[in-house]
Amino acid sequence: MKYSKYSVVIVGSGAAGLYTALKISEQIRLPEGILLISKSALGESNSRYAQGGIVGVVHQNPDDNADLHVKDTIKAGAGLCDEETAEYIAKASDEVINDLITTGVEFDKDENGELTFTLEAAHSVRRILHSGGDATGKGITDALVRAVQNDKNITVMENTMAVEVLVTADKICEGAILFNKLTGEHEIVYTSALVLATGGAAQVYKYTTNPNGATGDGIALAYEAGAIIQDMEFMQFHPTALAISPDSKYRFLISEAVRGEGAKLVNSKGEEFMSRYSDKRELAPRDVVTRAIFNEMQNENMPNVYLNAGVIGEEKLAVRFPTISRICSRNGIDISTKPIPVAPASHYTMGGIRAEVDGKTSIAGLYAIGEVASTGLHGANRLASNSLLECVVCAYELADYLSFTNLDSPEKIDEGIKKMIDVYSRSISGDSYNVDELKSKLKNIMWNNVGIIRSEQKLLEAQKEIEILKSEFKRRRKCLNQGEYEYRNMLIVSSLIVESALSRKESRGAHYREDYPDTLPTALHSNIVRDDDKELAYVK
Ligand SMILES: Cc1cc2nc3c(=O)[nH]c(=O)nc-3n(C[C@H](O)[C@H](O)[C@H](O)COP(=O)(O)OP(=O)(O)OC[C@H]3O[C@@H](n4cnc5c(N)ncnc54)[C@H](O)[C@@H]3O)c2cc1C
Repeated sequence: MKYSKYSVVIVGSGAAGLYTALKISEQIRLPEGILLISKSALGESNSRYAQGGIVGVVHQNPDDNADLHVKDTIKAGAGLCDEETAEYIAKASDEVINDLITTGVEFDKDENGELTFTLEAAHSVRRILHSGGDATGKGITDALVRAVQNDKNITVMENTMAVEVLVTADKICEGAILFNKLTGEHEIVYTSALVLATGGAAQVYKYTTNPNGATGDGIALAYEAGAIIQDMEFMQFHPTALAISPDSKYRFLISEAVRGEGAKLVNSKGEEFMSRYSDKRELAPRDVVTRAIFNEMQNENMPNVYLNAGVIGEEKLAVRFPTISRICSRNGIDISTKPIPVAPASHYTMGGIRAEVDGKTSIAGLYAIGEVASTGLHGANRLASNSLLECVVCAYELADYLSFTNLDSPEKIDEGIKKMIDVYSRSISGDSYNVDELKSKLKNIMWNNVGIIRSEQKLLEAQKEIEILKSEFKRRRKCLNQGEYEYRNMLIVSSLIVESALSRKESRGAHYREDYPDTLPTALHSNIVRDDDKELAYVK
């Protein structure tokens, strides 16, 4: 098999991966260079589709400060946020957001040239920066992609997927196996710093706002390598995704910022219902709004509720929400006059690879940045627009950490790693699986049994059905194509979600159990490490 060596290898080209590459290149002179790989085209990612914005606790906003932001984050996180992490990220926000501006990100400004801030659910002040109205993700990724393309220290490999983390018996990461989806070939890359920036896993559910690539690859790879995986039961279901028909599985997001600007939720009788669920009404935390909508849909036996955005006014809608206006209009809805049909959809993976603010995981040499990581910032329920901020602040910190780290490659290849590589150099027999059909079966199981409202009985049902799917899919390691690799990873991630959800016998944030509706007095993280008896540990 072909092999190469780089000082740092970054997997993923969303906000986290792109910014990590740029900051490392800026801070460190590396003898063997930086490799950035992406299974998609450069920049194609969840980040690109982010609408509402990015939290900016910046000196340009006199109404805000880090303490206020930390308070809001912790309140939304339902007892499970890591306070130190939240403080760190809030305090770093000013420097990092202004660095993004220097890198070329253009946030929207008012007629006086001052940054404009919007409000989103559960934020106590207007602090969300946006770009292109409701195309913040595109604004950020386009600027970062341009900078990466102009950076001679960064080698980019598109259409290339990481499929295995190479780790020694002493839990030291020494590289990865890559799969080139265009040639169908595997290759090895050795490195002393492997950064997973592969995003979340919301694609394991039938209805999702996430693009196809969000199959939880990094979480599955790190789990297989023996890393600690944290809080996987906390999947955020966004309350308002465009629900044109029950058959449309990809659900275009109707950003929280639309409710922030005054839009109201109504049921099919035209009644505004949010006051029955929270005194914060439309701006209650996401899990509260999601369950309220789900409840209304079940009571009325309807596939959706509606969002009335007409109150915002035609002119403002066109300026603030051009993308949402255009997509709805393409579906026959003029949002200034007609209610938008909306329903919840899986949206954000709060759990992931347990990591510190600088990306360190429980495996030496393996780092996790962005949605793939679980740093404790989001707790049991992510505060809107905190995720993009987490991506860039953690990338910044990782570059800083690596600048003090020895990045020399090991002298010789570990024996255990040689064996792992051997698996990928052998050919495999048999036809490829119909992965679209298999993915769809798995996504139905997850939506119907491990969704917004959970119970022991449904979770056990899911556990049984996933075990059957696993036994029918014979590929544990090497696969024939990208679809098979993604399905292999989705099975692993789905099991992690089910096991964690079964073990959490309480309701907290995004994890709601109808058989355990109360929240326990002590908030504990769930931690899973791969071992033979598959034990799940709960720790503070
Ligand atoms: C529709 C939508 C709207 C959102 N709006 C907001 C918002 O307004 N504000 C906010 O803060 N957050 C928002 N979010 C969440 C936010 O966009 C994400 O949490 C964040 O962008 C994650 O960035 P990331 O770099 O960690 O991952 P991603 O942006 O998902 O990037 C992951 C990258 O990894 C690549 N990849 C994955 N697996 C592999 C593999 N095995 N090998 C190689 N490459 C791989 C992918 O191709 C992709 O390039 C939104 C999310 C969605 C889906």
